Amino acid sequence: MVVAIDGPAGSGKGTVASILSKKYNLINIDTGATYRCVALKAIRNNCVDDINKIIELSNNIDIKFDLNNNVYLDNEDVTELIRSKEVTKIVSPISSIVEVRKNMVDLQRKLASNSSVVMEGRDITTVVFPNADYKFYLDASIEERAKRRFIQNQEKNIDMSYEEILENIKARDYNDMHKEVGSLMRTDEQVYIDSTNMTIDEVVEEMSKVIEVK
Ligand code: C5P
Repeated sequence: MVVAIDGPAGSGKGTVASILSKKYNLINIDTGATYRCVALKAIRNNCVDDINKIIELSNNIDIKFDLNNNVYLDNEDVTELIRSKEVTKIVSPISSIVEVRKNMVDLQRKLASNSSVVMEGRDITTVVFPNADYKFYLDASIEERAKRRFIQNQEKNIDMSYEEILENIKARDYNDMHKEVGSLMRTDEQVYIDSTNMTIDEVVEEMSKVIEVK
């Protein structure tokens, strides 16, 4: 079983995917984390402006997830590091590189090959698993998404102002919707949920209804 969730940055995909994974006993795969690992590795290799080097390092990158949603890059726990401001600022352009996307999509499919999964990202319902059993597009207004990310960052001691987050989300939205391959888009097959005025529990309930009816 594959539950696929797409949506823009800060729409709540990560939170609901984590709840759904526990509720339905699914492995939770955060595909944004795979692009964040490539970005972190590029920073560490001093090659954030060198497309060929970034492609090269994405060819053989070792990324794993455990059952508690921790992320490992070359066997190092990078769960916190990949959320840093430095990674967040460069991840979207890095994820636009077509060859990097090809490598990450292969890796994401492999991660899902032996288990039932809930997978969230930007192109899961369209490219990674177009035949997923359940397809959702989770949305919220840009101000609401920036507010949620601001609160989340404060809890994690990530120092970014609301304005800085709003600008970053605007830039990422534009980039995510204008990619050569794997753009974030709405389709008729997705169940569309606007969570601007909904609680997490309400969103989970609405998604659960869809899952349980089928
Ligand atoms: O979801 P998150 O914000 O962690 O994703 C980081 C970045 O990776 C996004 O800004 C987006 O540009 C990119 N991404 C992508 N395709 C996915 C998931 C994330 O291009 N399936």
